[in-house]
Amino acid sequence: MNYFEFDTNVSKKTRAMQQSAREFGMEVVRPAGIQLDKIQDPADAIAEQSCLWDVFRKYRELGFHKLLLPPAFGGKMGKVSAQARRLIFEQLGYADAGLAISMDLSGMPFLLGTLSASKEVRDWARQYCQDSEANMIGCWAITEPDHGTDWIMATTKAGANPKVVPSLTAVKKGNEYILNGRKSASVTNGTIATHGVVHVGLDLSKGMHGSGLAICPFDLPGVSKGKPLDKLGKRPLNQGAIIFEDVKIPEKYMLLKIPGLFEANSIGKGIVGLANSQMGLVVSSQARAIVDETLNYAKEHSCNGSALSEQQEIRLKLFNMFKTAESARRFAHSVAEHSPLGDPNPIAKMFLAIRATFWAAGNSISLLQDRYDTYKDSKRIKAIVQKHKPGSGIIDWSIYGMASKVLATETAFNLAREAIEIMGEDSLSTDNPVEKMLRDARTSMIEDGVNEALALAASEKLLA
Ligand SMILES: Cc1cc2nc3c(=O)[nH]c(=O)nc-3n(C[C@H](O)[C@H](O)[C@H](O)COP(=O)(O)OP(=O)(O)OC[C@H]3O[C@@H](n4cnc5c(N)ncnc54)[C@H](O)[C@@H]3O)c2cc1C
Repeated sequence: MNYFEFDTNVSKKTRAMQQSAREFGMEVVRPAGIQLDKIQDPADAIAEQSCLWDVFRKYRELGFHKLLLPPAFGGKMGKVSAQARRLIFEQLGYADAGLAISMDLSGMPFLLGTLSASKEVRDWARQYCQDSEANMIGCWAITEPDHGTDWIMATTKAGANPKVVPSLTAVKKGNEYILNGRKSASVTNGTIATHGVVHVGLDLSKGMHGSGLAICPFDLPGVSKGKPLDKLGKRPLNQGAIIFEDVKIPEKYMLLKIPGLFEANSIGKGIVGLANSQMGLVVSSQARAIVDETLNYAKEHSCNGSALSEQQEIRLKLFNMFKTAESARRFAHSVAEHSPLGDPNPIAKMFLAIRATFWAAGNSISLLQDRYDTYKDSKRIKAIVQKHKPGSGIIDWSIYGMASKVLATETAFNLAREAIEIMGEDSLSTDNPVEKMLRDARTSMIEDGVNEALALAASEKLLA
């Protein structure tokens, strides 16, 4: 159905991008998602001839992979508005919530790598922007076989418990770190990723807070991958373990090398907040897709001699579905609109186009960490840390990111259940899009943090 457009001041350029995303979504992403979902062996879903690669290549051809990368590296950050990014990802989520997240996460290491002191790492961002064949794919490797929720709780005070520590560790030896351990079979893009943002334990006495963040290429000796995960929902989204056995990485790959840098949980919760806000956007759009499927079904099918859409009880249900989906969607957009990754001001825009900005930023971040012991007690740094502590009065946007994800995924799942009640037996056929959407929606409730864990983590911040 046609929906009222709440976004005002949408430029012609943004409208055109939204339209391209809609066409890409419905002509390429949705059919590929359906096809990939039905593939029995997940290894076939990532094989060379798989339609997964048509999705990734078209995404690159449209330049959507560059949306968050700075122009200094060939990206479009600041050139394409944050509003356009929202409207594009909404279309991709509508088409297939799993593939939308897979595409989105594929750029994460290259974006964070722009803040590295190493030219080699920063250059990966430029190569990624130029990569139209999807040869470079990123992932966010955080959870471990024994630590899923623990990584969400790492953003809270519980993360300081020294009895709960990351299983992937990085030990410094000279100018290198040696990595040992594994990331869980749940890592999105895990078996197809060439690079990753990898959370590692640096100082186990500090519990999960004692972690650092490395940007790693996966062609290093000692890195291996598990089998692609076979699973219930979001089957088109590749997942798999990444194993590290005596993997040596140069110090320059360690972006955050001070365990618990100033306030480890500030950085962690920032990343979790951003990831969850994006999930909210994508999955609330899937909720809208579920409503549309149900509306169409009700118009086309009859029961007891009259069209379903003519029956009062069904009409009431349909309106409630519409109302619920649109509320979650609007909340997700409002939260994303206020993301820290919003539109840069004109001066920042100018700096984003200059490579030297990133050379200076990367080296400053590195220097600050090298001189951590000197700086950490400085009045200025203490004031900054104090200002950002929970309870300091600064509004914590990450709570909204988490709320957006929880609301969107619960909404999508509840609506899929409602759709199944309305459609009856027909809904159970694997030919019915809602059957897949139900499995996808349930999976999303676990992705990027089990909803209950996110609620617990966010509530600590509410009560601070
Ligand atoms: C589709 C999908 C994509 C994903 N993508 C990624 C990715 O890109 N990168 C990545 O690293 N990971 C990824 N994950 C992993 C995901 O983040 C974890 O599955 C999630 O955080 C939950 O961890 P777990 O599965 O280990 O569950 P557990 O942590 O084992 O939790 C099991 C249950 O116990 C409860 N529980 C556990 N601890 C507590 C506690 N302290 N207090 C209260 N309740 C608790 C949880 O709420 C949950 O209900 C993905 C998962 C999915 C489903």
